[in-house]
Amino acid sequence: MSEFLIGDIEVTRIIEMEGPDFAPFEFFPDCTPEMLKPHLGWLQPRFLDPTNGKLVFAIQSYLLRTNHHTILIDSCVGENKERTRFPNWNLRKNTDYIAKLAAAGVSPESIDYVLCTHLHADHVGWNTRLVDDRWVPTFANARYLFTRNEHDFWQAKSAKNPRKYDDGCYQDSVLPIIEAGQALIVDQDHALDDQIWLEPSPGHTPGHVSIRARSGDSEAVFSGDLMHNVLQCIYPDLVSRACFDKPLARQTRRTFLECYCDKPIQVMTAHFPSPSSGHIHRHGNSYRFSYSH
Ligand SMILES: [Zn+2]
Repeated sequence: MSEFLIGDIEVTRIIEMEGPDFAPFEFFPDCTPEMLKPHLGWLQPRFLDPTNGKLVFAIQSYLLRTNHHTILIDSCVGENKERTRFPNWNLRKNTDYIAKLAAAGVSPESIDYVLCTHLHADHVGWNTRLVDDRWVPTFANARYLFTRNEHDFWQAKSAKNPRKYDDGCYQDSVLPIIEAGQALIVDQDHALDDQIWLEPSPGHTPGHVSIRARSGDSEAVFSGDLMHNVLQCIYPDLVSRACFDKPLARQTRRTFLECYCDKPIQVMTAHFPSPSSGHIHRHGNSYRFSYSH
């Protein structure tokens, strides 16, 4: 029950949640009503909920079945994680994430690799789950790939104050993987095999990566959080409040949009509303995102 095919690679989205989450002027501090106004006609209701004025976000994993491996890209918010700064993410219980994986024909034990585009709380949550008051790897047989500079950055932050950064997600969702011996700390251009490799896209976080997939003549890129919303194709300089290095985030996004613009490469976004994937097209001095379906 794959939703997309990249050549022989089957891709299924495991959606943890989707809905209006953040107000545009809070999430993008440089965004103004004048910037939104010409686009409200098509932004609402799909991208911007008219009832509360909030941007619609999907939080999801991409499940990939290649010729070689079963791979999970990003692992959402998870369960029982204390995320006091994000009420929708805090102490979630009895969710259907694992059931959705099962419905896609995959058990946690059958995941070979977990690839985290970066180590924010909405991308590492299901790395671990709570068993007898201990955080243990959810995917018992998986290797988890973290990039070295991303890992080292959050490890150093966490050493100073374990709970301050992203509500302590390094402590509960990354460190237990390392302690279990299941982490692979890799470079930002690491290639998993001939079909899957990482591509550096720093700025949102120091070691953020995009993930490339290729099978036959088909190619895709999983863009992680180098953009959060279609508005950033129209206004590539719009930077989120969560970005670590704002000038670098802008530069990376511009480079990415130019690189993937008008190319037959499917762009699979982390947070755009469903179905979250499409293509980038040039539009005057900026870009537009067109959905595949
Ligand atoms: Zn995110």
